Amino acid sequence: MSLTDIDSYNCSNRRNLSRSIELFGRGQRVITGGNARLAVFQRPHPIYFAKGRGVHLVDVDGNRYLDFLNNFTTLIHGHGCRPLLDRLHDQLELGVSFSGPTELEVEFAELLCDRVPYFDQIRFMNSGTEAVMYTIKAARALTGRPKIAKLEGGFHGSYDPVEVSLDSAPANWGSQSAPSGTPYSTGMSESVVADTVVLPCNELRASREILEASKDRLAAVLIDLLPQRAGLVPIDPCYLAFLREFTARHGIVLISDEVMSFRLSYRGGITRFGLEADLCAFAKILGGGLPIGAVGGPSRFMLPFDSTNGKPLVPQAGTFSANPMSMAGGIATMQCLSEQHFQRFDELGEYARSSLTEMFRQQRLPYSVTGMGSMFRIHLRPEAPENYREAYATPEQQKRMGMLIWALQERGVIVSPTCQLCLSTPMSTDHIDEMVTSVREAAQMLEAA
Ligand code: PMP
Repeated sequence: MSLTDIDSYNCSNRRNLSRSIELFGRGQRVITGGNARLAVFQRPHPIYFAKGRGVHLVDVDGNRYLDFLNNFTTLIHGHGCRPLLDRLHDQLELGVSFSGPTELEVEFAELLCDRVPYFDQIRFMNSGTEAVMYTIKAARALTGRPKIAKLEGGFHGSYDPVEVSLDSAPANWGSQSAPSGTPYSTGMSESVVADTVVLPCNELRASREILEASKDRLAAVLIDLLPQRAGLVPIDPCYLAFLREFTARHGIVLISDEVMSFRLSYRGGITRFGLEADLCAFAKILGGGLPIGAVGGPSRFMLPFDSTNGKPLVPQAGTFSANPMSMAGGIATMQCLSEQHFQRFDELGEYARSSLTEMFRQQRLPYSVTGMGSMFRIHLRPEAPENYREAYATPEQQKRMGMLIWALQERGVIVSPTCQLCLSTPMSTDHIDEMVTSVREAAQMLEAA
């Protein structure tokens, strides 16, 4: 099938998914669990995609979908952005990776340090997980302290210390004002849990007490300005100001995980929130769809990575770090991303949130919407949640969410497993209207069931 025919693919509600089913069967024989990425696994089977163009995806059975997930917020220009493809094709001819640095990494670092004036320097790696991991290693090296603090329910990738309290549940989460540290993967070391301090997001007094008790052992406080798993509710400015002041006073490194929230403005989430973080972790949109991660900050916080005078405090290598394809993809993506795009994201995001909220009200559907800028999330509860515990879905609610997401897929709309959606630059109000209609139909079906 050719990319230009993408408009002609099947958009009907009852889709033929036979080839996806077949691939999942084949996958189950040779890939543990059937497919190799937890986030995209779903019951009864994942949808296998064949190609994408603009705002659309086409699966292996030829069904077309509106992509409101964009590889989990990564593809800021949607699929097949021409300048990105051209730059990648050119780089393919020159070489995909070398055992030496390239001009591209210098060019990309210059671009990013120009764009986020608060940064002096950057280092590149291959994923958001790695980026967050290195900010933590740097914070430990800078402070000589072992512990980190994070917000309850905060997702920061697949590194043990940041997975603590990622999926705390009523049975183990303890009191609201003093959340328990809970392990995520089975067998997680007790020492990892003990070295991770869990804060109740936006609860200033309780957080101050918790931080006071461990401040002399704390290397870092790790935050996300718009924590997705905690409801996609923005961090409160007073709470943020408190964290900034407390960490600065006690020599604790304040880390902003911008893996997703870099999407919040032309100069990132920290600029939108007016935060002077000590270190930032990036990924996702930065690579234009190719694997990437980055750490940025003022020079003195980046010092642990400096190898010019011998072994650095934090050795950071990685066979594919700053690989030319990811650098080229990142440069092309950022060069096509203007301040006007972010103004439009704010307007379209607001349009999407208010259209959904109004539709839920008119249809008397007990659902709500949260989010900011180009990101939003649908909750199966009448009042928008304000924190992780309110956003927490019981197994029964998760099952209902899964049904809603499947019904949306059948109507040709792709969203995340937590019903998070995001915009891409080729999107218009027409695409949002189409999505709202599909959400209405899917929700009505769910309520009827
Ligand atoms: N931090 C945040 C806030 C994220 O949303 C993610 C990924 N969804 C990560 C870190 C990890 O990034 P990656 O999947 O690239 O390892």
